[in-house]
Parts: sequence; C-alpha cells; structure tokens
Amino acid sequence: MREVQGHQARKRFGQNFLVSPGVIRKIIDAVAPRPGDTVVEIGPGLGALTEPLLERVDHLHVVEIDRDLIARLRQRFPAERLTVHEGDALKFDFGQLKQAGPLKIIGNLPYNISSPLLFHLASYADQVAEMHFMLQKEVVDRMVAAPGSGDYGRLSVMLQYRYFMERLFIVPPGSFNPAPKVDSAVVRMIPLKVGAGNTAVDETLFANLVATAFSQRRKMLRNTLKEFGGEALLEAQGIAPTARAETLPVATYVRLANVLSAAKK
Ligand code: SAM
Repeated sequence: MREVQGHQARKRFGQNFLVSPGVIRKIIDAVAPRPGDTVVEIGPGLGALTEPLLERVDHLHVVEIDRDLIARLRQRFPAERLTVHEGDALKFDFGQLKQAGPLKIIGNLPYNISSPLLFHLASYADQVAEMHFMLQKEVVDRMVAAPGSGDYGRLSVMLQYRYFMERLFIVPPGSFNPAPKVDSAVVRMIPLKVGAGNTAVDETLFANLVATAFSQRRKMLRNTLKEFGGEALLEAQGIAPTARAETLPVATYVRLANVLSAAKK
C-alpha cells in the first residue's frame, strides 16, 4: 500500500489520487461550475477536485465509500458547504437530489467500477445536465467509438443512445499518486433530448438486442440475431444479412428494436 498525504491508498477502491495542479485546473475549467449549480462528485478521495469545486459552487454533494476518507472530508469541510453521502455510488439513489435541480456529476472514477457505474447513472439521465468523468483512456475510446471501428461495441451503443459524448483530453499516469499503469482520459457526457426518432419504445428489448448482437461480434448478424428474426428481420429493414454488429449505427439498433416491439403488439 502506498501512503498519500497520510492515507494508505486502497487498491480495492481504485484509489489513484490526482496530484497534478495543471490537470486539476483543466478538469475544473471543463466542468465550469457556477455558484447555484447542483454538483455531485463521485469518489472525492483526498479532495483534489472537491476543494477547487467548492471555490466555485455554494454547496457540493459527494459520494464516498472509504470511511477513513469520509472522516477526513467531514473534518476539513463544513457540513453547510459539503454534504458527504456515505456509501457505494453503485447503489446511490441520485433521484434523491432531483429537487435541487438538474445535476452536474463529476468524478475521477475508480476504474474497477466504471462500466457498472455508467450503466447505473444511465437510469438517471433525465435528471442530469451533464457529466464529466476521468476514466481509463481505453474505456473512453470505446464509449465514443464510431460504427466500423474496432472499439465500437455494446458500451458505445448503449451510452451513445443516451448521451452526446466527447473525449476532452488525455491524462498521463504521472498525474496520479499512486500512478496507474495506463493513460486516462476525461470525457464529457450530455444527455440527449428524448424524442420519437431516437428513442426505443421498449428499452429492455433494445438492450437485449444490442447485447445479443455484440455477444459474438465477429459473426454475421443473421446468425447472432436469429432469435429476433435473423435474416428476415434484417432484409425487411434493408440491412445486409452479412452485416456484423460493429457496422450498425445506434439509430439502426433503435429502429430494429422498435420494429420488433411493434410486431409484438
Ligand atoms: N477524486 C479523487 C482524486 O481525483 O484524487 C480520488 C479519485 S480515486 C481514483 C477514486 C475514489 O473513489 C476514491 O476516493 C475511492 O475511495 C472512491 N470509491 C471507490 N469505490 C467507490 C464506490 N463504489 N462508491 C463511492 N466511492 C468509491
């Protein structure tokens, strides 16, 4: 275990603390919080982002799992300025903050829970104004990948269905203590407006369809999507039956899911 500012960094909580003032400033500038904003920070840790955020907003919410860090945060920041929600962000009900207004969520996320956390947050997308996260660069590349690229997969489709996303900048390992083995990147995620054209009528069916299509990404969709109608379904929608999952844009998955749910009625 590595000691950072008198705290034993815990691997199981993905504790890589930001120590680069330049990177911290870039993240805060990207978030550009305003005094009245409702900002939630996931995993505040030793406060590298918490402190500069508190210089810009009246009040801040944080969700932290590590009891030692929670005690330090409570000691350092007054409760009128900082609400510390103690526990697992994967189980946190972000809906409890909705009265406070659309949420701006930010976090240098623990890498071991990043994908499940993104899926957890997707269910609160209608309460969110925008989110900024530091993640492994490789994960960010998969999130923002375009159809046809090797990085395009289930994560890309499911997140691009809900968010406009952009990779803002890359952060090298030396910006953290302890340093991770790989590059990180900061991503901005803005929920898309829900509309008839881009919304799956049955989101469970949409999620199943996408998961099935990418379960064997090298196979042709006429085989992987057999249980959904395979070749007949694809041909009726003008899609080559030899197409593979990684070639279909998000809108095509939505269209296929909506055709299937209309046929069920
Ligand atoms: N924000 C700090 C920084 O930038 O230096 C710390 C970032 S560190 C990568 C991740 C933080 O998330 C740690 O403080 C860790 O204890 C916390 N954490 C890990 N798993 C968590 C979970 N399931 N729920 C809430 N916080 C978690």
